[in-house]
Amino acid sequence: MAPDPQQLALFSAESTVAAFASVVVDIPARALSEPYAYGVPGEFADDIAIGSTVLVTFGHRAALGYVVALAETLGDLPGAEGLDPVRVRPVRALLAAPSCSPYAADIAFWLSREYVAPLAECLRLFLPPGGTPRLVRDADGAYRVERPAVAEVHERVLSLTDAGRTYEPPVRAHRQRQLLEALACGPVTTRELRALYTDLSATIRTLAQKGVVAVEERRAWRGVSGATTLSSASASVPEHLTDGQREALAAIAEAYARGQGDVVLIDGVTGSGKTEVYLAAIERVLADGRSACVLVPEISLTAQTVGRFRSRFGDAVAVFHSRLSAGERLDQWDMVRTGAARVVVGARSALFCPFRDLGLIVIDEEHEQSYKQGSSPRYHAREVAAEMARRGGFPLVLGSATPSAEALERCRAGTWAAQRWQRVEMRERPGGARLPRVVVADLRRAFAGGNRSMFSSVLERALLDVAARKEKAVLLHNRRGFAPFLMCRECGCVPTCRHCSTALTYHERTHTLECHTCGAVYHVRPYPAPGSACPQCGSRYLAKMGLGTQQVEDALRALLPSEVAVIRMDADSTKGKDGHQRLLEAFDAAESAVLLGTQMIAKGLDFPEVTLVGVINADYALKMPDFRAGERAFDLLEQVAGRAGRGERPGEVIIQTYLPEDPVIRAVATHDRAIFTEHDRAQRAEALYPPFVRLSNINVWARDEHAAEGHAAAIACDIRRLVAATAPVPPPAGDAGAPPSLAEGGDPRVAPVVLGPNPCVIARAKDRYRFHVVIKSPLGYHISDVIAAVLDARPAPQGVTVGVDIDAYDLM
Ligand code: ADP
Ligand code: ZN
Ligand code: ZN
Repeated sequence: MAPDPQQLALFSAESTVAAFASVVVDIPARALSEPYAYGVPGEFADDIAIGSTVLVTFGHRAALGYVVALAETLGDLPGAEGLDPVRVRPVRALLAAPSCSPYAADIAFWLSREYVAPLAECLRLFLPPGGTPRLVRDADGAYRVERPAVAEVHERVLSLTDAGRTYEPPVRAHRQRQLLEALACGPVTTRELRALYTDLSATIRTLAQKGVVAVEERRAWRGVSGATTLSSASASVPEHLTDGQREALAAIAEAYARGQGDVVLIDGVTGSGKTEVYLAAIERVLADGRSACVLVPEISLTAQTVGRFRSRFGDAVAVFHSRLSAGERLDQWDMVRTGAARVVVGARSALFCPFRDLGLIVIDEEHEQSYKQGSSPRYHAREVAAEMARRGGFPLVLGSATPSAEALERCRAGTWAAQRWQRVEMRERPGGARLPRVVVADLRRAFAGGNRSMFSSVLERALLDVAARKEKAVLLHNRRGFAPFLMCRECGCVPTCRHCSTALTYHERTHTLECHTCGAVYHVRPYPAPGSACPQCGSRYLAKMGLGTQQVEDALRALLPSEVAVIRMDADSTKGKDGHQRLLEAFDAAESAVLLGTQMIAKGLDFPEVTLVGVINADYALKMPDFRAGERAFDLLEQVAGRAGRGERPGEVIIQTYLPEDPVIRAVATHDRAIFTEHDRAQRAEALYPPFVRLSNINVWARDEHAAEGHAAAIACDIRRLVAATAPVPPPAGDAGAPPSLAEGGDPRVAPVVLGPNPCVIARAKDRYRFHVVIKSPLGYHISDVIAAVLDARPAPQGVTVGVDIDAYDLM
């Protein structure tokens, strides 16, 4: 801990200082990674607590800060040893009651160090929702904290008193009768009454005065009612658990009893009943009076998933996703804080809720990339959850049909960072539901045979059969990394954005080219419209390439009889708050239907009537320039295939591809995951990628190309020098990785290897030139400390920005 850098007004009246506080100063855009010591004047001593918001002087200015530690003497304040008490300034005012706990402060410290992120930014993750607090000064000179206005709402609940049950209203008191009828079956809110009857407020007053009706005011929780007609949005307790489910629960129970923060990976095929395992495990934790947190990928936070938890645990479930309003978010958070909710289901940020006695974290679909935050602090929810479990001594349960290479490798080792990692397999679906039959349709052969349609003959026949049997089908048109674009047939030019180096996406309906990096929109008329012209050579053959979801929709409608509903689900058709859910409800309600969509339909849907799953082209997923592309493609295909045959009728999956020999396709087709995982593991071991080493990325960007490149080069040079001065870690034992091909000058399993600087794949974005430095480092090596030291010693020049991504997923 450092003293305040500029000692302007020294605080000398030491007698009035009753204690000392470590304060995280919340100054935006300033990388403060340490708290500062302040004195606590006697008048605040009774009220100040860890988590309190305080006003402090920092340098020349007043600033907001959060108390993260308190001690009676400066020497007892962690990190403040050796500071002179006379040089420590006092806290100027106490602005708000604690908004985070000592536990939150501890985790924030860890996050800040692990992910090289400003401490205040990490602490903010734990603050009540409603935006970043700001310090404002009133006209009279007093400071206060301003938070965006989100107010609590209250509702009035009416119920019959004991006396009320025998009350006989006067014969003509029509409204009194109405009210008594409404209350006969239990308490009702005034809002519900207003929806059913004309104004009853005078009647309520009368009956309340008579002691017939009791009126109670209570906090209303916004965001709780998520009514849906989806048949599968409930979860009755199954009569018998499968053997796999029992084994998984036993492993979790053992981990819970051990209290060491063990990790249990449930490696279960789609539909094997993982959710049921989570529900049963949570029941036990709740029975102990503790809380549980369930993370699911944002994309599967649908009414269906949430409904299954609410149907089991009722209103005690708080839900967090990005579509909540500010008021709903605040209320859900407060439900957790007050203990009204002991189960939280949410996207990655749900980890930072103010839990009361957290006893279990579950991460469903643990391999999902959405668990990695894309902006600072760039944490991975799996790693944060593992740390929380370790500190709290409770289990972390990971579930997946296609576990990440990281999770598999740690389970193979048995322990990781002093934590036990254990894998439990669930290979069977309950109740005799079979895994679907998978057919690979080789598009090369279809093309050679003269088929120019987007459906191979196998898929076409299967779709018609589904229609004839009045069943349902799911059709995946994967466009991740692939969207319609324009290309000049004469010179091959693909129009790119003027401010970025990304290819533009073509939008048919608006005749526009759009940049998905900066949002720029360009109006164009592609061939055969008159006036179409290539920006490079002027040729009029600037033609549309790639297949839009709407085109597939048109082809489906042309193919299928009109009574089959075709429901298209993509970014366009799901706009609006409940767009997603309404489409699913339509699919659920239809007698026979095809659900066509982008990767958003691949996950989590549980419709037993789906007997066919088709994949229009599997190859776009396979061919992304990223060492995790195979893992992602395998996950996508496994997931979408898992939508078939979840009921009694058998399912069939048809995958169209030009690459039938690819290990990903072969693994999906044969239900033999090892074909893919063994191949993928060997490749990563050979090329020295995660999980065999850590991979971190430092991005440097600026309007001035030379400034960006120069600063990136300086950082790379500093890191190389600092790394050379530290001791290597012992080489890994066992079979983890083939002998490295040491082309890059070193073995990153022994000592960090720094690559670059190089221009990023997206070399320019929003008029900024982008360079990056990639660091591969040994698993047991704390690379974050090296990077933090380098960045502290070399502040970025004016106009240059640096972003650090530890254990990076996105290297573009
Ligand atoms: P997963 O999460 O592994 O994809 P789910 O938990 O969604 O699987 O379960 C798939 C289906 O099987 C659900 O409809 C669920 O209600 C049902 N199910 C789960 N466990 C059992 C069981 N022990 N007996 C009968 N049905 C079960
Ligand atoms: Zn752009
Ligand atoms: Zn051209």
